[in-house]
Amino acid sequence: MGQNRAIQVRLIDHTHDPMRSLYLAYRTCYSALTPVQILERIEDGRVSRQEMERFVAERLETGHASPLEQVWFEFGISGVSRAFSHQFVRHRIGISFEQQSQRYVVYKGGAFPHTMPDTIGRAGMASRVEELFRRVSELYEALVQAGVPAEDARFILPNATQTNFKVTVNFAELLHICDLRLCTRAQWEFRKVAALMRAEVMRVVPELARHLQPKCGEQRMGYCDESQKDWAACPLGRKRPHKGQVLAAFRTSTREPSAPLDESDFRIIEELRESASADAPA
Ligand SMILES: Cc1cc2nc3c(=O)[nH]c(=O)nc-3n(C[C@H](O)[C@H](O)[C@H](O)COP(=O)(O)OP(=O)(O)OC[C@H]3O[C@@H](n4cnc5c(N)ncnc54)[C@H](O)[C@@H]3O)c2cc1C
Repeated sequence: MGQNRAIQVRLIDHTHDPMRSLYLAYRTCYSALTPVQILERIEDGRVSRQEMERFVAERLETGHASPLEQVWFEFGISGVSRAFSHQFVRHRIGISFEQQSQRYVVYKGGAFPHTMPDTIGRAGMASRVEELFRRVSELYEALVQAGVPAEDARFILPNATQTNFKVTVNFAELLHICDLRLCTRAQWEFRKVAALMRAEVMRVVPELARHLQPKCGEQRMGYCDESQKDWAACPLGRKRPHKGQVLAAFRTSTREPSAPLDESDFRIIEELRESASADAPA
């Protein structure tokens, strides 16, 4: 029933030269030169590609994240379920979505493409689910033939119904999406899509794509902040530490025991802010 599709993720377009854009954005913050003067140094070879990559890699280790918003990637994504799409569109910042409409697209003959999770097949229940979908399909078609608009006939369709997206996402948000959705706690379909987005970026700009990791990755937060129980159950837990281990290691490696912040610490913070403000960048 329907033209069920495998998940497809294709990088359609991206910032012309992502590394150059990032270098220009970061360097503008730290240089007396104008952006155009920096660009001229890139173009006449005074700033090499290796130098750009080295400088950007150093900045990526800091919390200076806003320049990452200046690099964008456009993806075509198809063959994903509405169960996935509900989660995808929860990302609110730095990503723009267009999604196939169930108001304007009427499934011909009631045949709605859909996704069958492997677990249903492994439970030996795929044929029962297909039978249910076949009956849903017949009823959808009957509703449409009876003059019910597609926007209402769709009320009977399952979360398994497939959909398509065209999205534009900036690099800061793509990093964040990978933090959350490459995590083994994320749903399998979202993990698959995030992994395919990462693979697509890897094709064109591997020096940036290697930073697309789950949040526990050594290029990202570096440790797992999920529950101890979830960390213990995660296959990556063999390689990446839990937050509790990181803090325990800190406590044993410092002579001073760690302690809660008290009001005197906030006075220190306040004084630091006042003394440092004279040198702070605009
Ligand atoms: C494993 C997992 C389980 C989940 N389970 C559920 C669930 O059971 N129910 C449910 O409803 N959702 C669930 N979610 C979805 C989750 O609650 C968020 O909706 C989703 O992660 C997108 O939110 P975000 O903050 O990452 O958004 P993004 O738009 O991707 O956020 C990008 C960044 O901007 C920040 N940001 C965005 N908006 C604001 C704002 N208004 N103010 C300040 N900072 C902002 C974010 O904190 C983040 O740093 C789950 C997500 C995951 C990964």
